[in-house]
Amino acid sequence: MTAAGPGRDPRYDLLFEPLRIGPVTARNRFYQAPHCNGMGRNYPTPMAVMRGIKAEGGWSVVCTEQCDIHYSTDNPRNVRLWDEGDIPALARMADAVHEHDSLAGILLAHNGYITPNSISREIPLSPSGGTAFGMYPVHTRAMDKSDIAAFRRWHRNAALNARKAGFDLVIVYAGHDLALPMHFISRRHNSRTDEYGGPLENRARLLRELIEDTKEAVGDTCAVGVRLSVDELLGDQGITCEGEGREVVEMLAELPDLWDVNISRWQNDSATSRFQAEGYQERYVSFVKQVTTKPVVGVGRFTSPDTMASQIRRGILDMIGAARPSIADPFLPRKIEEGRTDDIRECIGCNICVSGNYMMAPIRCTQNPTMGEEWRRGWHPERIPPKDTDDRVLILGAGPAGLEAACALGQRGYEVVLAEAGRELGGRVARESRLPGLAAWARVRDHRLHRLQGMPNVEVYLESELGAGDVREAECSLVAIATGARWRRDGIGRHLREPVPGSESARVLTPDDIMDGVAAEGPVVIYDDDHYYMSGVLAEKLRAEGHAVTIVTPAASVADFTQYTLELNHIRRRLFEIGVEIVPFHALASVGEGTVDLASIFTGAVKTVECRSTVMVSAPLPSTALHDALAADAAALERAGIRRVVAIGDCRGPGTIAAAVFSGHAFARELNVGLQDEAPFLRENVELHPTLHGPE
Ligand code: ADP
Ligand code: SF4
Repeated sequence: MTAAGPGRDPRYDLLFEPLRIGPVTARNRFYQAPHCNGMGRNYPTPMAVMRGIKAEGGWSVVCTEQCDIHYSTDNPRNVRLWDEGDIPALARMADAVHEHDSLAGILLAHNGYITPNSISREIPLSPSGGTAFGMYPVHTRAMDKSDIAAFRRWHRNAALNARKAGFDLVIVYAGHDLALPMHFISRRHNSRTDEYGGPLENRARLLRELIEDTKEAVGDTCAVGVRLSVDELLGDQGITCEGEGREVVEMLAELPDLWDVNISRWQNDSATSRFQAEGYQERYVSFVKQVTTKPVVGVGRFTSPDTMASQIRRGILDMIGAARPSIADPFLPRKIEEGRTDDIRECIGCNICVSGNYMMAPIRCTQNPTMGEEWRRGWHPERIPPKDTDDRVLILGAGPAGLEAACALGQRGYEVVLAEAGRELGGRVARESRLPGLAAWARVRDHRLHRLQGMPNVEVYLESELGAGDVREAECSLVAIATGARWRRDGIGRHLREPVPGSESARVLTPDDIMDGVAAEGPVVIYDDDHYYMSGVLAEKLRAEGHAVTIVTPAASVADFTQYTLELNHIRRRLFEIGVEIVPFHALASVGEGTVDLASIFTGAVKTVECRSTVMVSAPLPSTALHDALAADAAALERAGIRRVVAIGDCRGPGTIAAAVFSGHAFARELNVGLQDEAPFLRENVELHPTLHGPE
């Protein structure tokens, strides 16, 4: 056992016991599970530096995201190891991880039918042919024996190249319905009649062969792990932890050096806090340690050290796997080790991190504004340069932007005054966290309040709605206006550009009204031109209050953006379950007495729906009045000794909570968030090929 850190609680000692994994040893029980980050092969150095910081923060195993092993699995969001040419980019990550004495893991992936191979233009591979994933007009090709042999060869070569790149742990991927070996195991995908089809032993043959191949190729120096989904939550239609999920682990129990087990698909594995609580995978994976002596790692959005220790103490897991908790707080293990568990920046389970991947953009996180910015802006999640001006900073508004700015400026050593008009701190986070399913979002506020408690240089005032005159008298030289945004009442949004006739009526409510406790009268129509979570959570709240609820949207369905947060199907299922009616492809035409008119966005045809309250979830409007009043009188600002007034967060541009936190943090680092002539971050240009001419 390692020596206890200066303040470590002995209850957590077992989290710091080293663990042998085949030929290598992890220094503790914290395992950064493979996770996408939108950087992949396109942003190699930012990805390497981000992973290195995880190692610095105490994760003893730090893994890549999926690593494509061949051009027939062509997912531009993944890292890539098609051949030796891809080694340098990945070696950079392994080096960054090794700098902090952690083990570097690589997840060798072939996505099979999941990827349409839009770039390589190869026909996707599958066990038995059939459709490819998604809406692409692409169908797969059934692999013949030579394809299987070739696939094993690519996998083996990738393992050898992974070792050359410096990886200590090579993981065979059979998870999330995203990997060929799992497609072979699955009866849904595999109807072969040869020795790779039929009984489970045959369907698991490819996975067995890949493990054996990998062990033979690199197993003397590298640990060989398996990432397997043991349940698909599809009952009889899929792999289950009582059935074939368990049988596969039993069959191959002692073959790999490590089992990394979870549930499938990704939307279940990375369920948001709206749908699953911490530790939600236990009942699916708890059998694994009973059937293997090899170390077992699993995930479950673990942020509580007590839960983590309990997982190990009770023999559920040997290592605590984490993707999102390590994104929200790369220093989570170090904080436990140093007895600073209250400082952990707990993941709120919102999956904004996942959205970056889908948008082909580097990862971002609601709780951790430095995520994805480690290399290009030089932002570290724990360290921030000390103050370099004598400014005294006034921040107006204690929502996520104002709170984050206050914390980061306070950490820099600035004198800060934070004035909040309302009776509570937290702004939209405090309000939205009271909506159904969003309680964990309050962590955005709570973490920052905890930090502010230790900062005597930050003064916090509640019930202090300051006007322009008050600001000028506050004896501050820098002013951040973090007054947020309010939902508009007139229905203007993405679709409608003119106010909805009748929207000035008292029967029209906004999400702010509902959060302020204004009672709706049923039946209720929610007009959703926002396409994220708000209309769905309001529908849940209003249904729970007993109202009939219809969501009307110009889109094809509700909550389209949540396809990027893996929540779309969960949300739609819940709305159907609780009896919310959905009217797609319609906009509000007018609000009347006890009815609303809806117009088809295609034909203009109008239909009338009974409705006593209309809730407008169309768009937020930034609350810029104070900013504009101050900015309008530059001379008065100068007389007051105010050198700059900056709008931050939703007041600057309404968006996600993540964007507001980011804005507050950027202000604290740079004392400005204005546009500059030069990009305020580094970019890594793709190296040009030496010649303009391709192959003859
Ligand atoms: P953001 O997401 O940008 O942080 P929020 O809407 O969450 O914005 O928070 C804005 C906060 O600003 C709210 O708590 C609101 O009460 C407060 N606020 C609005 N106007 C003023 C003002 N004039 N003085 C102080 N606080 C204000
Ligand atoms: Fe957690 Fe949300 Fe951050 Fe993802 S973006 S790590 S879910 S807080």
